[in-house]
Amino acid sequence: MNSLALMPQKSCPYCSGSGWEKNENDGSMKHCRCLQSGRIERLLQAANIPKRYEHCDLESYGPMDKSQTIAKSYVSRFVGQYPNIDVGLLFLGTCGVGKTHLAVALLRQLIREKGAIGLFYDFRDLLREIQASWDSVARTSEVEVLRPVLDADVLVLDELGSNKPTDWVRETVAYIINGRYNDKKVTIFTSNFLDVPNASAGEFEPEPQNPRVREESLTDRIGARLRSRLYEMCRVIEIRGKDFRKTHKQAEYRF
Ligand code: ADP
Repeated sequence: MNSLALMPQKSCPYCSGSGWEKNENDGSMKHCRCLQSGRIERLLQAANIPKRYEHCDLESYGPMDKSQTIAKSYVSRFVGQYPNIDVGLLFLGTCGVGKTHLAVALLRQLIREKGAIGLFYDFRDLLREIQASWDSVARTSEVEVLRPVLDADVLVLDELGSNKPTDWVRETVAYIINGRYNDKKVTIFTSNFLDVPNASAGEFEPEPQNPRVREESLTDRIGARLRSRLYEMCRVIEIRGKDFRKTHKQAEYRF
């Protein structure tokens, strides 16, 4: 059975597992509230959000730069307008400015508030899973790996461009992007690769551990055609600021 199907909860105090509860206004029967809450929990579990990002929500994102305030307000407006949305989002910025945090916050909120079927994938993991499916003894086929990626109402594809841009990688991204775009499904991308390298030099903190950001642009990593497609299907949100991990997390560690 599809694990996301509506299932009553046996221990539910309102329906004891029947799936029906009494309407307090007129005594008629209606679908029990546990159907929806159980479904939301299952949707959240099925969304593949990594444990280390489970805490991410809009409330806990504290902007420390004007671009972060703007990004946060885009995200909350996006939630408000969903599903009447034509374009996805592409978060661009250096490491640790909260791109994944905001993408996960958005995904979780769309699941919780709108009941959307959401899916999170680190782009490298997705490519690895697809490649593993080619193995003759693999338990899943490529189609099985890609089906939920194409079907999800909202897909977060984290760290776009982080893999070596071989033809196969480009073709795979194009296949996913085009399939979802044609089906009018929302996709949220994050990438550490800026659109034009060094264009904002001076505005960004130096990133000695991440020289890739300065050396290559998003176009270098995914190709001009794909980049242009992304710009057609996404609102680009550039986030600036310092690496949160360095400035805040380090201060919290006691040893
Ligand atoms: P990026 O995807 O831009 O590399 P992340 O979203 O992975 O950055 O952020 C790294 C860590 O810092 C995460 O644990 C995230 O929750 C946290 N973080 C980043 N920016 C903020 C912020 N403005 N407020 C609260 N937490 C933040």
